[in-house]
Amino acid sequence: MTCKGVIREISNYIDGDLDPVVKQELERHLEHCEDCTMIVDQTRKSIKVLCDSRPVSLSQICYYSATYSVAPTCLRHLSSK
Ligand SMILES: [Zn+2]
Repeated sequence: MTCKGVIREISNYIDGDLDPVVKQELERHLEHCEDCTMIVDQTRKSIKVLCDSRPVSLSQICYYSATYSVAPTCLRHLSSK
């Protein structure tokens, strides 16, 4: 898997929605790619902060959406509360 692939699947990965095969590939990539490990880490933290904070402003969601494409993930978290 490439770095781009990791970014594309990142919200599914964090949500645990990833196909086991894809997940394995992604984790294998993370083992040797510091950049992606950092991005996954940051994204996870961002989601936590974003989802724990109320109210979530639209600009925040847009920011994270543009940066990490995590908005769908976060919105799912929010709506499941
Ligand atoms: Zn990478």
